[in-house]
Amino acid sequence: MKKVFNIADFRLCQKGVCNANMDGRDIVCVMPTGGGKSLTYQLPALLTPGCTLVISPLISLMTDQILHLRESGVEAVMLTGGTPRPLLNEIQQRLTSMASSQVHRHQGRDIKLCYVTPEKIAKSKTFMSLLRKLVEGGKLARIVIDEAHCASQMGHDFRPDYRKLSILRQFFPHVPILALSATCPPRVLQDILKILKMKPVVDGKAAPPDGTVYFSAPLYRKNLHYTVLPKPSSAKELIMTMSDYILQNHRNDSGIIYCLAKKDAESVAESIQMVSNGRIKTGVYHANVEDGQKERLHMQWREGKVQVVCATIAFGLGIDKGDVRFVLHHTVLLATQKSLDGYYQESGRAGRDGQDADCVLYYRPQDATRQASITCSDQDGVMKLHDILRFAQDMQECRKILFAKYFSASSDLSMASWTTNESDAMDRCGHCDNCTRPPANVEHKDVTVEAWQILKILEAVEGNGGRLTIAGLSDLARGLGGGSFETGGNGKRRNAKEKIQIDYDSVAGGKVRLSKDDMESLIVQMLVLRYLEEAFSSTAYTVNVYVAPGNQALRLTRFIREDIVNGGGPRIQCSFRRHGRKVKSKKTTIDRQSPDILDLQEDPTSGPSRIRKPA
Ligand code: ADP
Ligand code: MG
Repeated sequence: MKKVFNIADFRLCQKGVCNANMDGRDIVCVMPTGGGKSLTYQLPALLTPGCTLVISPLISLMTDQILHLRESGVEAVMLTGGTPRPLLNEIQQRLTSMASSQVHRHQGRDIKLCYVTPEKIAKSKTFMSLLRKLVEGGKLARIVIDEAHCASQMGHDFRPDYRKLSILRQFFPHVPILALSATCPPRVLQDILKILKMKPVVDGKAAPPDGTVYFSAPLYRKNLHYTVLPKPSSAKELIMTMSDYILQNHRNDSGIIYCLAKKDAESVAESIQMVSNGRIKTGVYHANVEDGQKERLHMQWREGKVQVVCATIAFGLGIDKGDVRFVLHHTVLLATQKSLDGYYQESGRAGRDGQDADCVLYYRPQDATRQASITCSDQDGVMKLHDILRFAQDMQECRKILFAKYFSASSDLSMASWTTNESDAMDRCGHCDNCTRPPANVEHKDVTVEAWQILKILEAVEGNGGRLTIAGLSDLARGLGGGSFETGGNGKRRNAKEKIQIDYDSVAGGKVRLSKDDMESLIVQMLVLRYLEEAFSSTAYTVNVYVAPGNQALRLTRFIREDIVNGGGPRIQCSFRRHGRKVKSKKTTIDRQSPDILDLQEDPTSGPSRIRKPA
């Protein structure tokens, strides 16, 4: 390790993984990005006869590794769809002759590490037969699957070719496998094990000789400060809010703003640079930016000539900039697209150098439905959406604990690994928004009566062949728009469109007395708790998302109002923001050219997304 890699000491669980590796075990190793996963197979590869096969999703990642290895004098090669024919022939030739040479006879030019893309395994028969020869000659030391979560559709970066990696175990049952990942909640772990046909994980210490050994290093990073901020309803205000945030807190720091779509990344970059009068230099990164420009941007960002990269999640794997001081999420949508571990990954690109960094998620409950239409009727998608909504809605539990619970879910496997010390896994971090929020800024309320009313109103609407979106339900329950709804298109009265008036008193004992923002928070809360559920309806052009009573609804609606009012039935709690906007005492640094956005003043009674103009 010292001689070849110039590394003095093992870090995190490297030593254990190397030992298990030398012992020929099947291993799953979960370590944060930058933790040093590569060493856990590169070092054993040098100490083991034969060649170690590494499957990696990105050519840029492989190129990087190969360069480093060659600099250190290690024989490493890579094969991709784009490898030129002569080189391909040469490498295959070398592997073939390795396969047929005498067992354990070391040759100077033996290939110690061979990196391939998953397509090679999935699609190249020649390569598979070459692997077979290596195996038969006892020269395939190990198979390493880097970024193994790509195999699972439940993970945040699914790649179909990873699924086909199951043939490796099928064809080569005796070659040990090492699966590496930076984030791997239990259900993803279970999925990976199944796909790669590895034995279930028992427990790090008590794994039977042929069992899979599981290692994981702390995922919790003390230097990251998580905050969920209310997202203003207009795009313009959001831009102002973000520019303010950057100028006030990170005037000269590098950061990333993650956006949902390519055009969002572009417009956010442009607007932020504009409203800050060029004080915040931005760049754009997404899949359609051409390669040369991407490289230039990387360079400018590294040199500090670009301060903020506005990007889609295409900006990810392979970023190696330590001093990213903030990562903002323009919307919860994007995080939900890839679930909460996606959010953890993206926000985790901040503070790689160990210094303090901020992770801010801009959230408004109304966004939930738009996301739902993207995730559509896919059950996994809905589950992922709820994971992050639960996270975003929560204004009580420490963010560290929320992540810990998420990553450990129904198993106690990763709970211990979340922190270095098992006993503090459930201690509050003390520095996230939920740990530092003044108590007056949030109201935790029993809203069982309101939830009951909402369900009763929804039932009445459905009973009359109507259906409602979140916004529609919110308005109707509050008595807006004259308290009527339209039937038709669904249920009994498919063809007849008519307006029906809700009789609030008889249906629900009155209108629901909540502000718009509180109402929408409650509806999202009810979705997360399954008192409501999303109902999808697709036309030729779009998927519409409606709300319907969820599988928990009966637990509430079987009671009469009086029982609920008197404390019967299951109770539902919800937290509401009271002083949503984080107002800094420092004076606003933006020149506001637009007359309708003067001072960003909060209106404590109307919740987060209303901004009052000074008189
Ligand atoms: P990962 O794959 O987990 O994201 P890498 O294997 O790419 O991380 O390692 C990240 C960096 O850390 C590399 O530059 C590597 O040389 C360095 N590194 C790995 N292990 C150690 C160690 N034990 N001590 C110091 N640096 C290390
Ligand atoms: Mg890596």
